[in-house]
Amino acid sequence: MKKEYEFVIVGAGPAGMSAALYASRAGLDTCIIEAGAPGGKLLKTYHIENYPGIKEMGGAELAMTMFDQALAFGADYVAGEVEKVDEDKTIHLKDGNTIKAKAVLFATGTKERMMNIPGEQEGIGKGVSYCAVCDGAFFRGRDVVVIGGGNSALEESIYLTQFVNKIYIVIRRDQFRAESKLQYDVEHNDKIEIIREHVPVKVLFDEIVKGIVIKNVKTGEEKTIECAGIFPYIGSDPLSEAVKDLGVTNEHGYVMVDRDMETSVKNLYAAGDIVDKQLRQVVTATGEGALVGQMAFRRVRE
Ligand code: NAP
Repeated sequence: MKKEYEFVIVGAGPAGMSAALYASRAGLDTCIIEAGAPGGKLLKTYHIENYPGIKEMGGAELAMTMFDQALAFGADYVAGEVEKVDEDKTIHLKDGNTIKAKAVLFATGTKERMMNIPGEQEGIGKGVSYCAVCDGAFFRGRDVVVIGGGNSALEESIYLTQFVNKIYIVIRRDQFRAESKLQYDVEHNDKIEIIREHVPVKVLFDEIVKGIVIKNVKTGEEKTIECAGIFPYIGSDPLSEAVKDLGVTNEHGYVMVDRDMETSVKNLYAAGDIVDKQLRQVVTATGEGALVGQMAFRRVRE
């Protein structure tokens, strides 16, 4: 493994891969570090239909296409987990290795939020899943519960309808957070029943998931839904631990950047879902990554 690069990207989601493409194509000596598989949230997304130029494509297929293109101009790929980024752009990996860079892009994205209710931990892998694309097929012909009313919950519910018998979507308000097209789709799907103003209380577990107890937020009344699968999609939290000490995150842990995606630390950039912003989409992540690739090139070379 090389110890020095002009540009190091932490995180191989759409933002990181776009930055790698732009920077390496411009000629920067670039490395991209990723702890899991390249693709980020795309890998957990059934299909994408709002990325301009691609009418419809599987998330994993788009991720692999982006990855091929990101490395096509000579960027290196390092499999590893980044523990800390220093102000002087030294990157510390969990395995003890360090890499020094002139510019760094931090694009680690977010991690799914847990419900933090009894039975959830025990149920993981035995009925509780945070990835419908990965696990949906295990619930063929069964009933499942999706918790949450954002874009992820509704998109993945629609994906699940191809396998399951019935889906209960449990939301805590009387309104969804998701965009209106998705709301229309779930409200008009025969396999989906929407339970409003309820929150999850307890996962019923006996070697495998048997059901979930939910509570009416107004009356406090509890009821049980028998189900084989539970898919919590209640939002996500930023994976910004590695830059926390640099004072670049806000009170929720998202990274604050200026219009060039640069943090208050010179030549430390952030892009994608980790950034404090309004719209978290593949198209915004790729745009931000491209900008950082170009900005890093200018900074390092000029
Ligand atoms: P999200 O938009 O934050 O939605 C989270 C949902 O979970 C909301 O309905 C929220 O309810 C509910 N919730 C939160 N905490 C809860 C709790 N403790 N108990 C019960 N319910 C709870 O999260 P997301 O759907 O994962 O999306 C994350 C970001 O990615 C968003 O910016 C989203 O637009 C984007 N995204 C976009 C697409 C797309 O455009 N195709 C697809 C996926 C994700 P309240 O509404 O009451 O707060």
